[in-house]
This record gives sequence, structure tokens and C-alpha cells, in this order.
Amino acid sequence: MAYKYIDNYREQGARKKLVEILKKKGIADERVLNVIGMVPRHFFFDETFWNQAYKDIAFPIGAGQTISQPYTVAYQTELLHIKTGDKVLEIGTGCGYQTCILLKLGAKVYTIERQEKLYERTKQVLPFMGYKPNFFLGDGSKGIPEHAPYNKIIVTAGAPIIPDTLLTQLVIGGILVIPVGDEKSQKMVTVLKTGEYDYEEHVLDTFRFVPLVGDKAW
Ligand code: SAM
Repeated sequence: MAYKYIDNYREQGARKKLVEILKKKGIADERVLNVIGMVPRHFFFDETFWNQAYKDIAFPIGAGQTISQPYTVAYQTELLHIKTGDKVLEIGTGCGYQTCILLKLGAKVYTIERQEKLYERTKQVLPFMGYKPNFFLGDGSKGIPEHAPYNKIIVTAGAPIIPDTLLTQLVIGGILVIPVGDEKSQKMVTVLKTGEYDYEEHVLDTFRFVPLVGDKAW
């Protein structure tokens, strides 16, 4: 187990190259690039696949799910404009890579996963790596009202609609980042909550996520 969590010069070098790739693809926020350069993405892979860990690709993590493509993680994170101390709700913990990026930026993270196997695994692995979000098991399409409001909400699975429940759980001035579309492709949407019932919405680039499954989802 201990051997698995070694961050050697080969992986550190590969991570630097990944940061350069993301810069070329248009990620400009230096803080986001900096944390991508720090979080050891290969820890989320079986050692046999470490040579895949710093390619800008999504990768299977079991239970029919994927670790998100680094570009997608950087893109969504950039849109969140994380400030130190921000209370962030992440829907779709998966393996927890995105969670680590948010924590490294100084956010307080509430993360929810619907698949028990992934929830149990990530709940063990992240603290072992030194990352301590608040873990929840359940349907994140309804948010986590008990801990609301949040400064930021990020959804890491593709939704058919923007669930109202998530908007009500944002503070005024808060931001929701969510991919919305059909099962094949989604547009990244950001919603800025400008007043109790006022929102400013922006529809951005096209992505392909695994589906958000739940009450306010597929
Ligand atoms: N954030 C992860 C990362 O850093 O690589 C990737 C997450 S993966 C693309 C999407 C995750 O959303 C899957 O683990 C899936 O089980 C989860 N998911 C789908 N619907 C959900 C729901 N309603 N509530 C919570 N998690 C959900």
C-alpha cells in the first residue's frame, strides 16, 4: 500500500507537462494550474496505469465511472472562482481528484456520491493522502440542504436540467457550475445568483459527462 503512494520525479515531470498542455488549451488561472501541478493524479490509478495518469484524458475508475479529464477539472474549477474559505458543494465525488483540487485551493468541501462502492473507497483514500473533505453518500441532485447555503456548487455529472433545489442552496453572489444536456453531450452552464430569485446564466463549451442519476436528474 505504502509503495502505491510514491510521488517520484517521473510523475512530477509528467505533471508539469500536463500543466503546459492545459495552458495551451486555454486554462489561464495560475492558481488552478498551480494546484493541478501539485495534486498527484497517479494516486488515483492502479500502478499498472501510472503512464496514463498525466495524459489529458478521462480514465475508468470502476463502478462504470471515470476520473474526469484534467482539462475538464481545470475548466470547471476556473469557472468557480474559488476563494480561500469558500464553502463548496461537489456533486459526484467519484475518485475524489476534483475534490483534492478544490481543497488545495482553500475551499471547505462537502462532497456527495451516490455509488456506495466509490463513496467507501474515496472516503478511505483521500484522508490517507492528507485531504479531508466532508463525505456524504446519497443523491446529490437534491443538494445537501442540511449544510446549505454554499458559496459554490459544482456538478461533475451531466444533468438534463438545472435542479431548482441547487439554486436555492446557493448564497446570493454564489456560483453553480453544471453540465446540462442529453446523455450524449452537455453544455457547461454557469449560474450566478444575483438576488433571492435572480440569476445570471451563461452557456459555454460542449463536454461529455457520465449521467447525473437521481430525483432531480436522469
Ligand atoms: N469528480 C470526479 C473526478 O474528480 O474525477 C469525477 C466524477 S464522475 C465524472 C461523476 C460521478 O458522479 C460518478 O462517480 C457518479 O457515480 C456520480 N453521480 C452521478 N449521479 C449522482 C448523484 N445524483 N448524486 C451524487 N453523485 C452522482
